This record gives sequence, structure tokens and C-alpha cells, in this order.
Amino acid sequence: MKPDAPRSDVERVIETIEKLGYKPHELPGENRTAIGITGNPGAIDPAHFENMPGVADAIRVTKPYKLISKDLRPEKSIVKVGTAEIGGGELAIIAGPCAIENREQVFSVAKAVADSGAKFFRGGAFKPRTSPYAFQGMGEDGLKILADVRDEYDLSIVTEAMDERGVDLVEKYGDCIQIGARNMQNFSLLKYVGQTRKPVLLKRGLSATLDELLLAAEYIMAEGNYDVILCERGIRTFAAHARNTLDLSIVPAIHNVSHLPVIVDPSHGTGRNYMVNPMARAGVAVGADGLIIEVHSNPEQALCDGAQALTPVQYLALVQEVKAIHKALSPVVNNFESASVV
Ligand code: PEP
Ligand code: MN
Repeated sequence: MKPDAPRSDVERVIETIEKLGYKPHELPGENRTAIGITGNPGAIDPAHFENMPGVADAIRVTKPYKLISKDLRPEKSIVKVGTAEIGGGELAIIAGPCAIENREQVFSVAKAVADSGAKFFRGGAFKPRTSPYAFQGMGEDGLKILADVRDEYDLSIVTEAMDERGVDLVEKYGDCIQIGARNMQNFSLLKYVGQTRKPVLLKRGLSATLDELLLAAEYIMAEGNYDVILCERGIRTFAAHARNTLDLSIVPAIHNVSHLPVIVDPSHGTGRNYMVNPMARAGVAVGADGLIIEVHSNPEQALCDGAQALTPVQYLALVQEVKAIHKALSPVVNNFESASVV
């Protein structure tokens, strides 16, 4: 739509799309509103829209993904999560234990996370474990502890849902629904979270390509939920020195085609305590919009992912370092971006 198009023009275009039997997706931007169309079996004649009042242009998106694409929204998306946001230029730090184990454990980590200036707290109440005999998470009782953390520290809560019942519960207690690597292509779950109005943190599958990750995000957005944050968390390769291979090149690759924010998870990406800080620094250097970090007050006794957990002291050092890198790069990156537009 043209930057000065009144609301009535936007609504008329939306109505026209609906009358044709398609689905409109209104994506407001800084300067103009874009309206995406999905549900069309083939190409639509742009003449339907081109001469309508307020319409600036009708563009055919030929890529397999549409709503995630910069064709639809050239400027970056800023996703609101609870009382904070991701993608707006400030480095988002999401930290907390892998699993919610008990109130004392969670609150001791939450204090360190709040003290670090981070605005988001993570912790799983539903854990996707390789073995059915491993700790599966505290379920709803764990979510209640997370809700108390939010009340005490004003941290926005990011937590995983593994099925539809879990989504309903995370919606009730949390601020952001995490879809784990193992569920990245659980298409019915993606559609279900697409129908909620909570932001979704979508983690890259264990062997997912860039296009598969983007199309998984497209599933969520096609249902009308546009608040999606992507997460690189390492992929399976032949390399055995780390739990996974953190594929940082996907960060600029995503920014090249999509307006969605992308964060990096150096905890699952490496699986090794000593690698988390260096790879977090690298993630910020390649332009990630944020980090998700596992922290435990007593990693040797963690019920899940202890080998990659940072102690609160290690975590606080990481935050200082990544903030310094982010600050040092921000003016350069911004200048570079505006220079490349010119
Ligand atoms: C997690 O964040 O604790 C987790 C299980 O992550 P992933 O789905 O990336 O393995
Ligand atoms: Mn974990």
C-alpha cells in the first residue's frame, strides 16, 4: 500500500482478497503496510489490485515462501515477547536452565539472569529427551514456577511445547512458545501455534536446510501468527568434537532473504561448557539478534544438559563480552547497511 493510504483503502484490499477466496495477511511496516496473499492455487492477475485506491504495487512472489520473505516486508520484523522485544537492534539474551527442576534451582538462576540485564528467561517444563527413561520435565508445575519468575523479576518467559496440550499450557503461563529442533517439521503443531497469538521461537531441525527452516516458519505465519523468531542451534555433521556443529553462516543467509529475527543457541550448538562463550561471541559477530544460553547453579547435578550449562559466574562473563562485541559492531553494521542501500 502507499505510505499515505488510509485505513479504508487497506480494508478494501483485504475484502477483495477475501472475496476471491484467498487469505489476506496484513503486515504493517515502518513506512507502509504490505498485504500478503496466500491460499491461491496459481498466479493471481495483478490487475485485480493495481488500480485500487491506495495500492502502490502488486508484486508476484515466486519463491516457495512468501510471508517470511523480504519481498513482502523489506524492513526487519521486531517481535514483541512479553514486556520486551527481539529484532529491534538491542541484543536479546534469553537465559536459564535447560529444564525446570525445582523452585530453588530456578530462582537462583533467575536472579543471575535478571542481574545480567537480560530480559528473557528460558527453562523447559516439557523436555524432548532421547531416552524415555530420562527426566521428562515437571509439566504444568514447572510452568507455574516460570510464571512466578516473571512476576518476581519481570523477565519474559520462553518455554517449549511439544504437543497441542503443551501449547495451551504455555500460552497460559509463558510469553513465548518454543518449538524444539525435533518438532521443527511437526506440521500439525506448527499450524496449531500459528493459530495462537503468542510469539513462537522456532528452532532449526537437527538436519534441516535453510529452506526447510524458512518453510516451517511460513507454516506458522500462514495461519496468521506473524511473531516468529528463528533459532540456529547446531546441526548433525561428521564432526565429533562438539555435540552439534553450530552453523553460523545461516544467520546472514536468513537475514539475506527474511525479515524475521534470528537468534543463536551456542549451548545446544556445541554441547560443551568451554565452547559456549566463544561461539556466543561469534554468533553476535555474525549479526544474530540474540542468544539463548543454558545456565545452571550446579551443572554437575543438572537433570538435563549439564555438560553445556554455564555457571552463573561464567554466564555473567559471557554477557559482558557479547555486549561489548554487539556495541562495538552496532554503528559499523548500521553504517554498512545504509551504505549498501545507497
Ligand atoms: C532446549 O532448548 O532445551 C532444547 C531441547 O533445544 P533443541 O530443541 O534445540 O534441542
Ligand atoms: Mn537443553
